[in-house]
Amino acid sequence: MSHVTVVGGGLAGSEAALQLARWGIPCRLVEMRPEVPTPAHTTGRLAEIVCSNSLKSTAPATPSGLLKEELDLLGCRLLDCARATAVPAGAALAVDKDEFSEAVEAAVAAEPLITREAGEITSLPEQPDHLWLLATGPLTSAELVADLGRTTGAPALHFFDAIAPTVTSESLDLDVLFRAARYDKGEADYLNAALDREAYAAFHAALLEAEKAPVHDFDRADLFDGCQPLEEIAAGGEKSMAFGPLRPVGLADPRTGRRPHAVVQLRQENREGTLYGLVGFQTRLKFGEQQRVFRLLPGLARAEFVRFGQMHRNFYLDTPRCLARDFSLAARGDVFVAGQMTGVEGYVESVASGLLTAWHVAARLAGRILAPLPATSMLGALLGGFLFDTTAGRFSPMNANFGLVPDLPGRVRGKRERKLAKAARARTALAAWFRETATPPAG
Ligand SMILES: Cc1cc2nc3c(=O)[nH]c(=O)nc-3n(C[C@H](O)[C@H](O)[C@H](O)COP(=O)(O)OP(=O)(O)OC[C@H]3O[C@@H](n4cnc5c(N)ncnc54)[C@H](O)[C@@H]3O)c2cc1C
Repeated sequence: MSHVTVVGGGLAGSEAALQLARWGIPCRLVEMRPEVPTPAHTTGRLAEIVCSNSLKSTAPATPSGLLKEELDLLGCRLLDCARATAVPAGAALAVDKDEFSEAVEAAVAAEPLITREAGEITSLPEQPDHLWLLATGPLTSAELVADLGRTTGAPALHFFDAIAPTVTSESLDLDVLFRAARYDKGEADYLNAALDREAYAAFHAALLEAEKAPVHDFDRADLFDGCQPLEEIAAGGEKSMAFGPLRPVGLADPRTGRRPHAVVQLRQENREGTLYGLVGFQTRLKFGEQQRVFRLLPGLARAEFVRFGQMHRNFYLDTPRCLARDFSLAARGDVFVAGQMTGVEGYVESVASGLLTAWHVAARLAGRILAPLPATSMLGALLGGFLFDTTAGRFSPMNANFGLVPDLPGRVRGKRERKLAKAARARTALAAWFRETATPPAG
C-alpha cells in the first residue's frame, strides 16, 4: 500500500506528488475531474490553469521573480514544465495552458512511484501507516469540505475572500497620516487618513465612476452576506461611507484637535509592521482602478499595493489556528495540507506550497522535522511567517510580496535597490538552508 495519498491534482497536488517521487516515496494522486467538475475547470487534466495564463514576472527585483529563483534552487518540477511550454510574454512567464497541463501529465506519468486515480475523495479516514496530503484548492468539493469541518470545527473554514487592499508602510506618507485608535481604546495601532468634506466628495465620486471587475456566476451566491463592497456602500448615498467604514467618531485629528468629516483607517497586518490594510475596503473594483482611486486618499498618493481588494469564492483554512508548522492539521497529524487552501494566493505560490508540504511529509516519514525556512527568503516569509501570523485578526490569503520580507538591517537608497538587496539576502539564506537540508528529507 502507498504511504501517501495526494488528494487533488491541481498545481499544488501535482508538484507535491512529483516531489514525493523525487524522495523515493510512492503515492496515489487522486483527482476528481472530469467525473466531478468544478465551476472553473474545463478539462480532466492535471494542473489545469483556470484563468490568466501568466505566472507573473521573472525579473529579479520582483517578488514573483524571487519566488521563482527560490523554487528553482529547491528543484521545483512545475516551473520546468512552465518554461518548457512558455509563450512570449516579455518579462513574465506565461504558458500555453493546454501544453502546460500536458507537460505535467507527462512528468507524472514518467514517475513509476506515482499512481494516478480518478474520483472524488469525500472523507479522510485514518489508516495505519498512511498520510493524506490534501491539495483540493479553492473549489474543494462540498462533501470533503463538510468532512474537514467535522475535523477542524466550522470556524476554521473560510468560503469567501472578502479582502481589502494591503499596502506597504514604507510607501505611506506618515507626515499626512496620524496614529490613533478610535476613542483612544487600546494601543494606537491604526494609521488614519483624515478627509475633509471636499476630499470625501471627490473620493465618493471617483469610487462611483470606477470600473468594476466582472462577477462569475459561482461567485454571486452569498457574496454580500455581512460584507458589502465599498463601492456598493458608496452607491447607497453620499453619506453612507461616512456612517460606515469611514466613520470619524472617536477620532480627532491631532493637528486640528477636531473630528474630521471622514476617516480611512489602516490597520497593521503583520508582526514586522511593514504591511497595512485599508479597513472596510473590501471591493470588486478592477485592480488598476483600486490603485488609481485609493491613491486619491490623503497619505496614500504613492501607496504601493501588495495585494488588491477581492471578493470571490475561495475555500481555505484558518491556517494560523488549525495547522501545525509542518502543515499538518492540529487535530489530525496524519492530514497535511497544501496549495491555496493554506491561504496562499496565486499559481506559483500554490506550487511552492505543494513543494514544501511534500518535503514536510517526506521528513515525517523519515522521522525528522524539516528545519524552518529562513524568514528572509520569500518562501520563508510567506509560508513560514505570514501564514502563521495572527496580527491581522481575521486570516486572509496572501501572495508573494516584498512587504512580507523583514526590512534590511542597514539603509539602502532606492526602492529597486532595496528589493534587489532583499533578493540577494534571500538567495544566500535559502541556499544555506538548502545545503543543510539538502540531503533528501527522507534520506
Ligand atoms: C476562478 C479562479 C480564477 C483564478 N485566477 C487566477 C489567476 O489569474 N492567477 C493566479 O495566480 N491565480 C488564480 N486563481 C487562483 C488559483 O486557482 C490558484 O492559485 C491555484 O490554482 C490553486 O492551486 P491549488 O493546487 O491549491 O488548487 P487547484 O489548482 O484548484 O487544484 C485543486 C484540485 O483538486 C481537485 N479536487 C477538489 N476537490 C476534490 C476532491 N474532493 N477529491 C479529488 N479532487 C478534488 C480539483 O478538481 C482541482 O483539480 C484563480 C482561482 C479561481 C478559482
